[in-house]
Amino acid sequence: MKVITRFPPSPTGKFHIGSARTALFNYLFAQHHGGTMFLRFEDTDAERNKIEHEHDIIDGLHWLGISYTESIPLRQSERLDVYRSYLHQLIESGAAYEAEPAENGGGNVVRFKNPNVKITFSDLIRGEVSFDTAELKDFIIARNTGSPLYHLAVVADDHDSGITHVIRGEDHISNTQRQILIIEALGFSRPVYAHIPLILAPDRSKLSKRHGAISLNEYRAEGFVAEALVNYLALLGWNPGGERELFSLAELVRAFDITQVQKSGAIFDLQKLRWFNHSYLKKLDAEEYEARFAEYIKTEKKAAPPAYLSQAIRIVQERGETFGHAFELLHTDCAFLEDNLNGGAPIPIPLLTKGAKADALTVLAHLKKVLVLLSGVDEKSFTTDAIKDAVFPYATGEGRASVLWPLRVALSGKEKSPDPFTLAGYLGKERTLSRVSNAIEMLSRV
Ligand code: GLU
Repeated sequence: MKVITRFPPSPTGKFHIGSARTALFNYLFAQHHGGTMFLRFEDTDAERNKIEHEHDIIDGLHWLGISYTESIPLRQSERLDVYRSYLHQLIESGAAYEAEPAENGGGNVVRFKNPNVKITFSDLIRGEVSFDTAELKDFIIARNTGSPLYHLAVVADDHDSGITHVIRGEDHISNTQRQILIIEALGFSRPVYAHIPLILAPDRSKLSKRHGAISLNEYRAEGFVAEALVNYLALLGWNPGGERELFSLAELVRAFDITQVQKSGAIFDLQKLRWFNHSYLKKLDAEEYEARFAEYIKTEKKAAPPAYLSQAIRIVQERGETFGHAFELLHTDCAFLEDNLNGGAPIPIPLLTKGAKADALTVLAHLKKVLVLLSGVDEKSFTTDAIKDAVFPYATGEGRASVLWPLRVALSGKEKSPDPFTLAGYLGKERTLSRVSNAIEMLSRV
């Protein structure tokens, strides 16, 4: 039996991050079993549907690398005739009947004749789930004989496209009992169900706008990369066991096991997502990083990057958690590069002591000592690590702020910059010694 899953979003809003994760699980499951995932749009809510939301979803799926097969036709609104004929079949067989509308107005509604049975289905994540359907009463399945409602449409679509597995959010569990009743009345075979846990905010409430960004586009605009989002979303409620956390999409496909998805809600942790993103960005080779950063700047219509971009790129790749953050760093931590071509940014004297928690004389003494320590590092191996090895023990002994702050300011001339070891490694031995000597000279004159 070939596995066929489906992703049937309602295009009534921006592509939600939770919806992207549902699509991902359907994709991973289908791919893992050599199957296919169908995309269809459940656009029966004429008032809230928008074509731009459809485009947004399609664009988001492509960006994430989630491939699919389009249902034919793609939209429920193009299949109303089919739903009507199933509706008539139900009426003819006595499984549904026309009734006066409960409230005044409108034509007759069509109600499903509830057989009042206990329904049990086995869910791949939650095990056996049972419902007593009696409490649903004779529920409405069409507003009139011409416009069947949502549940009938879902059942018809899933059947006609041969869906074998329905993987969706647990908020749909209460729909499942209605849909199973309709499935049985039409004599269809039941798909296998898997209801995945919801994504929760850190306070365990439902993730919503007030917790921050929830649409995929907002993450994209902030400079998260697709491979990090895919990796993080896949691990929201599932993990392949073991310590490893970084997986490519292909690796996720290989490892995915829906039965290992947890039942309880999965907490969305933005810091963790940023960590994933940072890990992916640092891993890119320099050329690719540069190209993708440039692409990001272009698509997000950021202001033109500073002229020293190419000199800053190594620093921002190392430190930027997202491309957005990296762009910010260009103008903060990397601002010291601005005057680099003409000997570097001037050193503001008051800044040398500002964050040092020490007076000028102490700072002066520290800088003199540091100059000696730096002179002792071999010019050819004047790397960030070697510099740190030479200076850090002294700084730790004397109080880090009083040694490292003035050194950092001496090298950058700025209040904000990368740490002094990175700066010195970047500047090279000659420029580093010359800037520290300058700072000593300026301080001695005060
Ligand atoms: N259209 C529904 C939604 O966007 C999905 C329903 C389903 O998966 O059965 O939530």
